[in-house]
Amino acid sequence: MHGFNAGGRRTFLGGTNQQNAEVLSPALQGKDALAHIWAGWAGLRVVLMVFGIVFLIQGIVAYNMLQTYAVEQLAGLRDVAQAALVPVVNDIGEEKPAAVKQNVSKLLHHTVIRGFAIYGMTDDALLHKYGELPGLRPVKGMRYPKTFYAKDGLLYDVIYTPSEIGQPYNVAVRLDAAGVSQQMTAYGWRALAIILLLSALITSVLMVAMNQLLLAPLLRRNDQLLEKMHLQAENKIHRLAYFDSLTGLPNRTYFLENLDKSIEQKAYGEDGVIAVLSVDIDHFKDINDSLGHEVGDKLLEVVGTRLVKALPAEAVVARLSADEFALMMPMAPEADISILSDQVFASIQDPVEIMQESFLTRVSVGVSCYPQDGDTAREVLKNADIALSRAKNEGRGTVRHYSQDFSEIVQQRAQLVRDLRKALDEKQLQLFYHPQFDVRTGEIVGAEALLRWIRPASGPGGGSQFISPAEFIPVAEQSGLIVPIGEWVLRHACARTKAWQDAGVPPLRMAVNISGIQFHRADIVRLVEDVLGKTKLPPEWLELELTESIFIEDAQSAIDIMDQLHQLGVQLAVDDFGTGYSSLSYLRQFPIDRLKIDQSFVRASLMNLNDRMIIRAIVNLGHSLNLKIIAEGVEMKDHEDLLKEEGCDEVQGFKYSKPLPEDKFLEFVKTYNENLANSKKVWMVE
Ligand code: C2E
Ligand code: MG
Ligand code: MG
Repeated sequence: MHGFNAGGRRTFLGGTNQQNAEVLSPALQGKDALAHIWAGWAGLRVVLMVFGIVFLIQGIVAYNMLQTYAVEQLAGLRDVAQAALVPVVNDIGEEKPAAVKQNVSKLLHHTVIRGFAIYGMTDDALLHKYGELPGLRPVKGMRYPKTFYAKDGLLYDVIYTPSEIGQPYNVAVRLDAAGVSQQMTAYGWRALAIILLLSALITSVLMVAMNQLLLAPLLRRNDQLLEKMHLQAENKIHRLAYFDSLTGLPNRTYFLENLDKSIEQKAYGEDGVIAVLSVDIDHFKDINDSLGHEVGDKLLEVVGTRLVKALPAEAVVARLSADEFALMMPMAPEADISILSDQVFASIQDPVEIMQESFLTRVSVGVSCYPQDGDTAREVLKNADIALSRAKNEGRGTVRHYSQDFSEIVQQRAQLVRDLRKALDEKQLQLFYHPQFDVRTGEIVGAEALLRWIRPASGPGGGSQFISPAEFIPVAEQSGLIVPIGEWVLRHACARTKAWQDAGVPPLRMAVNISGIQFHRADIVRLVEDVLGKTKLPPEWLELELTESIFIEDAQSAIDIMDQLHQLGVQLAVDDFGTGYSSLSYLRQFPIDRLKIDQSFVRASLMNLNDRMIIRAIVNLGHSLNLKIIAEGVEMKDHEDLLKEEGCDEVQGFKYSKPLPEDKFLEFVKTYNENLANSKKVWMVE
């Protein structure tokens, strides 16, 4: 089924044997098609026409021959009669009445002569008459042709001239031509039979000749043309249905069908296995988005070609979706499947040259096997995919083999999604608030709204369960649930902030986390506008925390959306700054107000000079761009001191408080502010 062209790419040479037979059948059926032509009504008409023409031509010829034959017969009859008549007329001329009487009687009874009349040579007067009187008589001065006058088709009158008779008479004779007529009829029937036979024969010969010389080549050409078109169409449909147009590799449909077939035909032999590998290019989306689809396409082509080259000829390499490849290969029971993943990694190792630039790519690989990891192609591939996502989650650039507990994880995830949807409907979600402080004055300046989910007990006796946002937010993002959840958070956080303000709590800036999915998928601008309008919260008290990933996904649309948000008057902060793609160039282009240094740098800053340097760099860079800097993860006084030294503006962390539910948070704010005021008073008194 597969072959390699000069470039090493695996190409499709045809379909299954059965498909080939179907494709070639029109050519094989060429002779049958020919036979069919004659069987049809059109064919019959052609045959009848040819037969008719042949018959007509032969009929005309035969008629002429019949005429000639008749003339000859009658001429013979005339000659015979003349021979019989001459002696009798002689006798008459010599006036021998007795002989004449006897001979005339013989003549009339035993020859074809039925009667005759003798006319004078000069005046054509009737001299003698014997038997029937012929209707034909000589006319004076006329030359008589040696023809006859036929009457009723059976009687023939002829005139013999004196030179023919040898006496000075013209003799008119009535002849009995019944014998000639019979002969003619018999001759006619015979001729008709022969003509019919000949016509049939000639028609057959002509038809065969026409078949062989004219129609057959025509039909054959037609068949060949049809066959070619048929093949081309089949190939095209086949290619579209089974092959990926970019890489020329088989697609998912082909891959699954082939895998099913291999399973069915036991291609793996006794006790053998079929290894299935899912291969995914790491960060392909980023490459595609940041460098353009042209580079992305080229990369896919190169990866496809390299995989095909690197793997054994029996392996089937396919492109399943955007950046996912898959391969399958029957293996002996003792064979080491990791050889395959090693070959995959080795093939990707060298940099890829695209448009004079060199790219280093990595891939993640998931492996599963028939029959251990599934009974059907679909199941085996699905489990290879599960192993692949495991490989991606566990650091990428690596391989994971499917195992049963993977699918348990997947099922747990599915359950989590169902529960989360219920949580949203049944109001199990709530917001906690994490205060933020001005590091110099110590004042509370804001709070970050953080989502909390307390899942109620599922059965009697079981307690309710706290689920960390770190666990359920990624699941909400993958399932798309983050969009309604994020909307709920925004509405709730804004409504509470406004309510606090109305209740006389000193105004606080409310930071709300916005997921990348929510940012790009939902109409975030209209949502924010709507929420601000409905809650009447002045926009400057709302801050949206965005992560760096949203800039990578689609930079231009991110700029547009952020510009519109900024025009609404809300503030924008970059969350977890320093951990993402850290392309500092975007800072200038985006309307950002605040950078939030990731807690990992804060946590490590006391031990690691590098992390402190990073904090310093972020602060300097941010300030040079007129941005405020806030640090999260501040757990100790030393963290606070360090951040203050480095010029950080604001802090957030467990040193001050854990995230708190609303009532506790408000209590905290109240006491904190009172304490702060008191400490200031103390300071002033001092
Ligand atoms: P984040 O936005 O970076 O939130 C800060 C996280 O760090 C919070 O964890 C907070 O409790 C924790 N944190 C702050 N200071 C300290 C500290 O001093 N020590 C320690 N150990 N932790 C500290 P949390 O609440 O578990 O949230 C985790 C992540 O979940 C958040 O990271 C955010 O990405 C996401 N998340 C939480 N709520 C929402 C939400 O409403 N919407 C979205 N889209 N994501 C949310
Ligand atoms: Mg945050
Ligand atoms: Mg953060």
